[in-house]
Amino acid sequence: MAAATPSFESATRGAKSSAALEFLKSSPKKLLINGKWVPSKSGKTFETLNPANEQVLALVAEGDKADVDEAVKHARKAYEDGKWANLSPHARTRFLLKIADLIEQHAEELAELESLDNGKPIFESKNIDIPGAAETFRYYAGFATKIYGETNPSEPTMFNYTLREPVGVCGQIIPWNFPLLMAAWKIAPALACGNVSILKPAEQTPLTALRLGELILESGLPPGVVQIITGFGPGAGSAIAEHPDIDKVAFTGSGEVGKLILKASAGNLKRVSLELGGKSPNIIFPDADMPQAVFGLNQGQVCCAGSRVFVQEGVYDQFTESLSKMAQTLTLGNPLDPNTKMGPLVSKEQHDRVKGYLKTGKEEGAKAMTGGEAGKQESGYFIQPTVFSGVNNQMKIAREEIFGPVASAIKFKDENDVVVQGNDTDYGLAAAVWTKDINRALGIARKLKAGTVWINTYGQIDPMSPFGGYKQSGFGRELGRYAIDLYTQIKSVYAKIG
Ligand code: NAP
Ligand code: MG
Repeated sequence: MAAATPSFESATRGAKSSAALEFLKSSPKKLLINGKWVPSKSGKTFETLNPANEQVLALVAEGDKADVDEAVKHARKAYEDGKWANLSPHARTRFLLKIADLIEQHAEELAELESLDNGKPIFESKNIDIPGAAETFRYYAGFATKIYGETNPSEPTMFNYTLREPVGVCGQIIPWNFPLLMAAWKIAPALACGNVSILKPAEQTPLTALRLGELILESGLPPGVVQIITGFGPGAGSAIAEHPDIDKVAFTGSGEVGKLILKASAGNLKRVSLELGGKSPNIIFPDADMPQAVFGLNQGQVCCAGSRVFVQEGVYDQFTESLSKMAQTLTLGNPLDPNTKMGPLVSKEQHDRVKGYLKTGKEEGAKAMTGGEAGKQESGYFIQPTVFSGVNNQMKIAREEIFGPVASAIKFKDENDVVVQGNDTDYGLAAAVWTKDINRALGIARKLKAGTVWINTYGQIDPMSPFGGYKQSGFGRELGRYAIDLYTQIKSVYAKIG
């Protein structure tokens, strides 16, 4: 629960950037509609908290269907008037580069806002989230001038070519685990292709998207090309998914909501792309160096976290022992402290969820070699990094996405066994294999049903390379040139000659 009398000073404890504090003081935050900041039509607001101390950082406008309707009206106008879609590709490139520069110029402020709102350690916000967002805009800035159609084979009396055109008005719904980065993954390719965007950030972490909205205005982008509607999933989110005048929805989040979005999109047969998380196998052979990345970033709240750790039977005890020792060195604390390796989970809901899985794991007969409990801090949603041994692949803690600092270690016999077990999951987002035997690594990489496979490393994601899931991890590929497919449609033109 938030403190009864929230104190801005204690909510922002440890913040150094005066710009971040200045931004937070101008609360309540508003919606970005048609180039202007406006309150929600209902006048309602909600609180966004600092999960490290459970205090209120800012009040934020609660947009709902009426606000989405208004945003769609302006988005449609901005799209159809062609001021963005028909702008020269070079000019679109310059806008996206400008946005990337503005993100970099405000990197310190954005990193602090991200860590305050989400709870991720500042070294992550500074080194991963904020630079990653800038690089994503820069990467797609380059694409605006490289979106080609084709000249097709045809009869001599016919000239046939294809045009790659934007899809139109895009609704983009994002989660709380990488707030600014997810906003960039969505907005940058959509704009590069000439679309307009309505972005809905997650209720837990609206701040950096709102600051990005200010920077986008500063870049001079025409009004209505990017609009930001903060609010809740069942209100603003479902209004976007259902809206008859939105052409495409891009969603990252839970499978449960992904299914709702797919159903809602049927009304006007929107194009849909879904990125829905995973339960990724992280496979360790005896000849591997000790993997450094088992707990991943952001307290394990990562869709591609390698949380199902498969260890070959001969080294299982030794490995789980070293992993537990390593987990004990991860210092929990205020995310703004540069020495903090692990912050709190994002919300009370997420904290309760992960605590539920810790209990379930023990009931299922797994052993918490370290952790297994909430953090001992006075306040905040902390969880001790946990290593479960004695896990089998049928247990709930091996099948469901925990989204916390919890590793479930499972034994395997040989290559064949680990491929079968690794693929025995509803998900297919990512996987990793750790071994010095390159033939074995490449062979297993082919056999795993996952959208990304890492070999002797974990978690690298680059805007240059596609990202997305097999099976129930979703469909459509973001990043790389594949995102251009998501945000364009093909027109075939036949011209009769002579
Ligand atoms: P979620 O509900 O799927 O949230 C993701 C986004 O969808 C948020 O912006 C959310 O809005 C919105 N949303 C919720 N209900 C909606 C609806 N009916 N229609 C349209 N949009 C809707 O995820 P969560 O509840 O925050 O997290 C639950 C679990 O999902 C996590 O524990 C984790 O397992 C998984 N997850 C996966 C990812 C990933 O990267 N794939 C990210 C986050 C969570 P509000 O937040 O404002 O309600
Ligand atoms: Mg928050």
